[in-house]
Amino acid sequence: MLEILKQSNNPEICKPLVEKVIEKAKEFQLRFGRNPAFMEVCGSHTMALARTGIKQALKEYVNLISGPGCPVCVTDQRSIDAMIALAEGENRIICTFGDMMRVPGSEKTLLDSKIAGKDIRVLYSPVEAVKVAEENPNKEVIFLGIGFETTIPIMALMVGEAEKRAVKNFSIWMATKLVEPVLRYLLDSGDVQLDGFLLPGHVSIVLGEDSYRYLVDEYQISGVITGFETAELLSGIYKLSDLAMQGHVSIENNHPSVVSKTGNQVSQEWMAKYLIECDEVWRGIGVIPKSGLDLKPEYDQYNAKKIFTVTVGVPKKTKCRCGEVIRGLISPNECPLFGKACHPMNPIGPCMVSSEGSCSAYYHYMRESI
Ligand code: SF4
Repeated sequence: MLEILKQSNNPEICKPLVEKVIEKAKEFQLRFGRNPAFMEVCGSHTMALARTGIKQALKEYVNLISGPGCPVCVTDQRSIDAMIALAEGENRIICTFGDMMRVPGSEKTLLDSKIAGKDIRVLYSPVEAVKVAEENPNKEVIFLGIGFETTIPIMALMVGEAEKRAVKNFSIWMATKLVEPVLRYLLDSGDVQLDGFLLPGHVSIVLGEDSYRYLVDEYQISGVITGFETAELLSGIYKLSDLAMQGHVSIENNHPSVVSKTGNQVSQEWMAKYLIECDEVWRGIGVIPKSGLDLKPEYDQYNAKKIFTVTVGVPKKTKCRCGEVIRGLISPNECPLFGKACHPMNPIGPCMVSSEGSCSAYYHYMRESI
């Protein structure tokens, strides 16, 4: 609670909201004999809930379970190994997001390869990769395409830019993930008891409120689309608690200033123009049919998987339990390596590396309170 008051931009609003959530959660406890359990789907939510102290303040009353919303964390080990192997080729420039650099592969990281002399560049705006290709016409420039619907439209835009500017030495190694298939997987598996989802603010800008109707219509579970400020997060948790208490299921938009009913049409059109559904492999889960987007065959000249041959062996087995963390089966502190063999200076798995990873969030903000 103290942490929330310290970090909130409006403590006058947040303190009563914390009390309201606790009051509602206690009502739920009285009626159902257990705490309400909600999953935050988005890795940025996980980080914000830990950083603001909300997880800590509510831990006795509400089970806030981190879900599969960190794109780096859900990328399977074989894909990570393939991207590192890709970077080993000659005459290549690999462009990536910063979070990827320290993700452990079976043998090394991208950072190790960079230190060894490979040209691997961290981009803050992915579209810069096309410019890098233009500036280096004698090299192959490959962007590592990891992300959910928030970043996927940018990848489509990059292909559009490369096409428009006739850039021939640019390609994307697509390893994208979609939110709906993994939520369906979690609900179908029944492994985690949930009373609702805190739905991602950023992804929802692209997809729109109506895209979550299946949660209500097919699974009878609520979702509240939520932003990232302390008050917004608390308000989202309160709404979920209230719906669960009343036994109502609904999709609520708690982020209406940026999330519309039908989402961002331009982004959707870009995706529809360049991309097609494909099966994707998820860490700790395996293949989920049609859970990613790949480039359509007519854009094969930009598809790094069609251009480059990469051979990887069987991924090295470790005791990392990221696969269970991202499915909400265990909390990071339940991994025996947490804070001991595995910490931010020596990450064993991606959940400890990524800025959206649950283990990193727990380590930075919650290890004193667990
Ligand atoms: Fe993996 Fe480290 Fe998290 Fe354990 S604490 S699940 S080893 S990243």
